[in-house]
Amino acid sequence: MIPSDTSNTIERLDRLLPQTQCGQCGYAGCRPYAEAMARGDAGPDHCPPGGDAGARALAKVLGVAAVPYDRSRGEHKPAQLAFIVEAECIGCTKCIQACPVDAIIGGPKHMHTVLDDLCTGCELCVPACPVDCIVMEPADNPVAG
Ligand code: SF4
Ligand code: SF4
Ligand code: SF4
Repeated sequence: MIPSDTSNTIERLDRLLPQTQCGQCGYAGCRPYAEAMARGDAGPDHCPPGGDAGARALAKVLGVAAVPYDRSRGEHKPAQLAFIVEAECIGCTKCIQACPVDAIIGGPKHMHTVLDDLCTGCELCVPACPVDCIVMEPADNPVAG
């Protein structure tokens, strides 16, 4: 059983994380990273989507010195969304399996579509696509369609 003060710390840390579930921190998602920080197994600098501001906020909750985020884990980017070039999609469903938040819909052999409201911009679907028909677009300027 997790003590309640640890549980509160996990909640506070998890709320500060961007929830893209991208895995760049080295954990399976934001909450496992929050749990690792609360256990003392990980520092506050592992999350590129949170950037330096995020790392500072995490350090404050942990009561440790602020550090910039670890650039070797990835690049802090503006918010983005995945977009499927539907004319090229072969309906293989690999992107659906890769998406950690179920933001892609479509059946076998049918074109697939990203639900903008659910997509966190984690990019995990991009390498999963065998025909390279998934592109990332700025969230404030998505491709029409
Ligand atoms: S790198 Fe950040 S946004 Fe990505 S899963 Fe880890 S905590 Fe979440
Ligand atoms: S659609 Fe792609 S970029 Fe968006 S959340 Fe799913 S895997 Fe990540
Ligand atoms: S991985 Fe690519 S080709 Fe396969 S269903 Fe997804 S978008 Fe279509």
